[in-house]
Amino acid sequence: MVNHRTIGERAPALSAEDLAALRENLHEQLRFRREQIEQLTSAAPGDGPGGRRAAAQAEVGAQLAASARMVLADVEAALRRMDEGRYGSCRLCRRPIARELLAIVPQARHCARCRQVREAGR
Ligand SMILES: [Zn+2]
Repeated sequence: MVNHRTIGERAPALSAEDLAALRENLHEQLRFRREQIEQLTSAAPGDGPGGRRAAAQAEVGAQLAASARMVLADVEAALRRMDEGRYGSCRLCRRPIARELLAIVPQARHCARCRQVREAGR
């Protein structure tokens, strides 16, 4: 069925079942993050008494919403890669990302080794 040439990339060792499960997982995260952002951004600070505390909460909410949006963007990008057939290979070394890693972090863009290198370089 799939017969397009891979350009210097080894196909990731993911079965159709793996991909289906990972896609489901990504959609789950998409829903969860969208709800989370919705909740965080709809809680507008009140002007009544305790307004300062509400403002502080809104500040925390805005930060949480910002990080939720980042995860959401990663998840959306992973789904795009899946649609384009590029899902599951490391962005840096182009090697397949381990299934075990994808099972935990389905939106992962880097293999375990490159993740370590990136973290060590910080
Ligand atoms: Zn890599």
